[in-house]
Amino acid sequence: MRWQQGRRSRNIEDRRAGGGGGARGRGGSGMGLLMTVGLVIAGLVFGVNPMKLINMTGGLGGLTSGTGSLTGSGGGVQYDASANQEDQAGQFVSSILGYTEDTWTEIFKGYGAQYQPPKLVLFKNAVSSACGTQSSAAGPFYCPGDKQVYIDTAFFAELQKMGAAGDFAMAYVIGHEVAHHIQNLEGTSMAVQRRQRQVSKVQSNQLSVLTELQADCYAGVWAHHTQKRTKFLEEGDLEEGLNAAAQIGDDTLLRKAGRTPHESMYTHGSAAQRQQWFTEGLRNGDIQRCNTFRQAGVSF
Ligand SMILES: [Zn+2]
Repeated sequence: MRWQQGRRSRNIEDRRAGGGGGARGRGGSGMGLLMTVGLVIAGLVFGVNPMKLINMTGGLGGLTSGTGSLTGSGGGVQYDASANQEDQAGQFVSSILGYTEDTWTEIFKGYGAQYQPPKLVLFKNAVSSACGTQSSAAGPFYCPGDKQVYIDTAFFAELQKMGAAGDFAMAYVIGHEVAHHIQNLEGTSMAVQRRQRQVSKVQSNQLSVLTELQADCYAGVWAHHTQKRTKFLEEGDLEEGLNAAAQIGDDTLLRKAGRTPHESMYTHGSAAQRQQWFTEGLRNGDIQRCNTFRQAGVSF
């Protein structure tokens, strides 16, 4: 990836200095912990099911605030990329976020709409959000309640351990989380959440899968248009993205955790499904073709 050439987003809040308190998740070692972390990632990462997060927003009592203001800021500062040249992770995240801002602004304009970008919070260990306090072990997430993406950049190393190496694999993760923001702006998140309250657990999981697959497709749409505009991809990047999509497929993660995958357990989609929808967006660059709901016969 030629990410270095991208402009740096200003919509980043750096809360890494704050540390996030005692919730240290990765002090220990051994397979046991790795498996646990893997499982939690399976459940949340690329998706923290946005709907569940909305459901969690009621529990403000759980916030570890103290420093927290009314806006949900945990004492972070606006990240200044130009003053942090040595911070590779920060540089990378602000470049990719910048690409999402420019590309989604262009796509929204095509529909006569104005894109309102999300803020991205960099944190360490644990963070409080409008969706409650989250540990790093849960992976990056988007919180619809405060319209913010949360990333502990240590996750990028976890991704590598999961067999999803490469800078474009990391960009795909950010693209996927921003895609949940698009779904929130569209009203899809709310519609799904409403429906999930009315149906069985299995059906609710299916709706979650459709939401996640649409986010994968949107991430592909974003990559398609960003590539057209900036030629930011290099040879091997698409393979990295597709491989990442497979490594975080529900069946892959369940198998790695020693369980037998069954479709009713999926919340994000199988490796094949995630690759398929990411590819769909990538190939066509058309958000209309990302309607995973319509294809499954679900209408709101
Ligand atoms: Zn997701």
